[in-house]
Amino acid sequence: MELHEKPLAVADAQAAILEWVSPVGVERVSLLEAPGRVLAETVVSPHDLPTFDNSAMDGYALVAADTAPASEAAPVRLRLIEHVTAGEVPRQPVLPGQAVRIMTGAPLPEGASAVVMQEHVCREGETLVVTRPVRKGDNIRRRGEDVRAGQTLMMAGEWLTAAHIGVLAAFHRTFVTVRRRPVVAIVATGDELIEADEPPAPGKVVNSNAYALAALVRECGAVPLVLPLVRDDGARIEAAFAEATQAADIIVSSGGVSVGDRDLVKPALARLGLEARFWRVWMKPGKPLLFGRLCGRPCFGLPGNPVSGMVCYHLFVRPALAKMVGLPEAQWRLPEVTATLRQDVRTKADRPTYLRARLSYAAGDWCADVLPGQGSGMLTSMLGANSLVFFPEGKQYGAAGERVPALRLMPPGAA
Ligand code: AMP
Ligand code: MG
Repeated sequence: MELHEKPLAVADAQAAILEWVSPVGVERVSLLEAPGRVLAETVVSPHDLPTFDNSAMDGYALVAADTAPASEAAPVRLRLIEHVTAGEVPRQPVLPGQAVRIMTGAPLPEGASAVVMQEHVCREGETLVVTRPVRKGDNIRRRGEDVRAGQTLMMAGEWLTAAHIGVLAAFHRTFVTVRRRPVVAIVATGDELIEADEPPAPGKVVNSNAYALAALVRECGAVPLVLPLVRDDGARIEAAFAEATQAADIIVSSGGVSVGDRDLVKPALARLGLEARFWRVWMKPGKPLLFGRLCGRPCFGLPGNPVSGMVCYHLFVRPALAKMVGLPEAQWRLPEVTATLRQDVRTKADRPTYLRARLSYAAGDWCADVLPGQGSGMLTSMLGANSLVFFPEGKQYGAAGERVPALRLMPPGAA
């Protein structure tokens, strides 16, 4: 496909990307490996939970009807016939006039219709003294009251949290089917770059993008594969991308996609046979953004500018990864809220603009503090940001108190 002459609208670019990515395959993993993975099967409960009627309290199991006439003046006396702690099984039924000492979680003896809390009764040796009526069913956890056999517990596409893991374990599920973690090759390009563990040098900047992108990729449940730095040299760029297609499900590069003399990524990818889908997106920050398919793999060329790269990641790479790991469509894009601006905001932008902002929830409403230092080279402006406030094209001023759309920067599994 020909590259578009005109930059694409953000929504069109997102749609084009999502059309070209699909979920990765599945694998079985141990429950201990499963947190943060996306379920790829429907889980139906094989049996009731709890599996047996049991006591919700430390106390005494009895026949509730026995206690109907009980009062302070005329207590009812019951004979203790057995002690059952959690993990044991009662040996005999409870008959009228009898009671069983029972601990929380222990199986209810046959014949018992209630448990009275130990704080509400007195003991005289092996006799229980009850001074008020106990209602039938009190303090009993019924078999199946939590989960019924055959009930659907979880659906494919759910992000597995500690709660999911606990429920799976309760049903003896030690392995689950989940989506594979997509491997994301990260290719940083630029003559000016040095690695974080190299000494500073004149004119050089640290390749911080590779680290930031690797961290973002992990948040999506994918595995970053950071390739060695690539100089602005066509042949080397080609070789790096060729290597990336061998090792990864998706490729994300940084730098070299703009219109400068050393922006050699686009021609290098063209020589490798990139099926280009688009090159620029009508937005600020981050207009240059290349997307296509290389050897069948989604391939993103992000701008090198750290902030532009991160914003482009959130708007375009995140939805792709969220779809690839098997999350449902509602979790692909950043969640949007409407927020009240706390200060006047001015921009000089000629394009739809995403402003780094701090959202807070107060008195039933979202408030947005647009952060200072919106220059797209200002890496630290991302530090306090938990959202992107959106100004559509033509809007260069927002007054304090105005309601504006804001995208929350949160991992797809948390959204
Ligand atoms: P480029 O998109 O290649 O024109 O890069 C734009 C600017 O982003 C460069 O001048 C660098 O200062 C910065 N930059 C590029 N790549 C990186 C990187 N990997 N890490 C941090 N900053 C970068
Ligand atoms: Mg460059």
